[in-house]
Amino acid sequence: MKLTVLGCGDAFGSGGQLQTSFHVAPSGGSEPFLIDCGATVLNGFDRAGLDPDRVSKVFITHLHGDHFGGLVWMMLHAQHVTRRTAPLTIVGPSGLEARFRAATEALYAGALTYPRRFPMSFVDIEAGTPAVVGGITVTAYEVNHPSGAASFALRLEAGEGADRRIIAFSGDTEWVDVLCDAARGADLFITECYGFDVASRGHLSWHEIKRHLPRIQSKRIMLTHMGRSMLAHRSEVSEPNVVVATDGQVLEV
Ligand SMILES: [Zn+2]
Ligand SMILES: [Zn+2]
Repeated sequence: MKLTVLGCGDAFGSGGQLQTSFHVAPSGGSEPFLIDCGATVLNGFDRAGLDPDRVSKVFITHLHGDHFGGLVWMMLHAQHVTRRTAPLTIVGPSGLEARFRAATEALYAGALTYPRRFPMSFVDIEAGTPAVVGGITVTAYEVNHPSGAASFALRLEAGEGADRRIIAFSGDTEWVDVLCDAARGADLFITECYGFDVASRGHLSWHEIKRHLPRIQSKRIMLTHMGRSMLAHRSEVSEPNVVVATDGQVLEV
């Protein structure tokens, strides 16, 4: 399984990084999917030389613009530029479709009135109830990050047989113990790491994550969603099996 970091930034463009999105291509040639879709997602696709129209599913952790806002531009690009025909399934917390429609209408009034060239469907998931979407098993864990809807950490199992891999992602959150459940046995646990030594409301810091490392039982950990303070100290992260994400980075999982 190949993971490409389309964006590992915070909401504010700190360090010039793009907003959160991870492109995952399972081994065996099944269709790639996205985990989160920040507003800058098309820039991320372009820089990585990847094709948004090949993506069949998008998994969304929570309803903040730097995590789902790119769906607006992905839809417009597919509709008007590439004239996509392949279906696209969007998976996330209840309320996602309404928020997508409201965001699209606010940014491009009338854009939803054109006949859609490709089927776009929304699947609501609930915390604690695993769902299977197109061969991918997704489990959501409710975290602590106010977004006007449920905010999730996600655990995704994809690929066939010996190529099956587990990727977990914290989404945005303060420390909650369910992160250990999401990450347990994962091949890769991606965790937000907005702060360095001080955790701000709704977010984690590296010092806090470091304290919990013995409890996080995944093979590898990747830090993402870094703010300015964390970026300034990124070279101080030297723990084995912990990588600090950069935009465009490719990881074999
Ligand atoms: Zn965020
Ligand atoms: Zn957020």
